[in-house]
Amino acid sequence: MDTTNRRDVLRAAVVVGGVALAGAGPARAAAPLGASPQSLPPLPYAPDALAPAISARTVDFHYTKHHAGYFTNLAKLVAGTPWATASLEAIILASAGKPDQTAIFNNAAQALNHNLYWQSLTPGGSAPSAALNAAITRDFGSKAALEAALATAAKGQFGSGWAWLVADAGALKVVATSNAATPLTTGATPLLVIDVWEHAYYLDQQNRRADYVSAVMPLLDWAGASQRFAGPPTAP
Ligand code: MN
Repeated sequence: MDTTNRRDVLRAAVVVGGVALAGAGPARAAAPLGASPQSLPPLPYAPDALAPAISARTVDFHYTKHHAGYFTNLAKLVAGTPWATASLEAIILASAGKPDQTAIFNNAAQALNHNLYWQSLTPGGSAPSAALNAAITRDFGSKAALEAALATAAKGQFGSGWAWLVADAGALKVVATSNAATPLTTGATPLLVIDVWEHAYYLDQQNRRADYVSAVMPLLDWAGASQRFAGPPTAP
């Protein structure tokens, strides 16, 4: 199984890249920042669709200032380099752990982390596929137990970061990362992510991160996670 990690990294890159591109329609023309897929994908729902858990005001600031800003910064940082046309995944994997490329890594990773964050939520939530549900039962006992583990990771992350559900070496795992760090660099496939940077909730819940986490848990898009769990479609 010595090639598992590398294969998973490549698979994860395809899957998350597909997510980033999936809804990229008219909004891409409105945000031409770098070469595809280095452009801000459209929100998959209206800005007020997640209220009251996440207000339209929070979504607006988060998406048009923070998320868009990472793409703007990245475009400036990679302008005139071979990375100007590289995928976010390729930039992340190539810049990770290199002290002289920290700014590039941080902005590329934050761009992709937010792509997946918006895709991890859906108004009213959704249900996992039978296959994902079976894996959840196998690895956590129940979906409620998984949600509790995810909430614990989100609440327990010290400072800015992310709480993730990932598929890693054939098992589902809950992990937390700091700042821009992503499990992509460890070979895991991200399935869902919750942003726990303060900008994700401070306008709505102020310092009460636990309230934010509880509020977003029913909005998780388990159907989308199921698609990522299944992997990209195979060629006929
Ligand atoms: Mn954020």
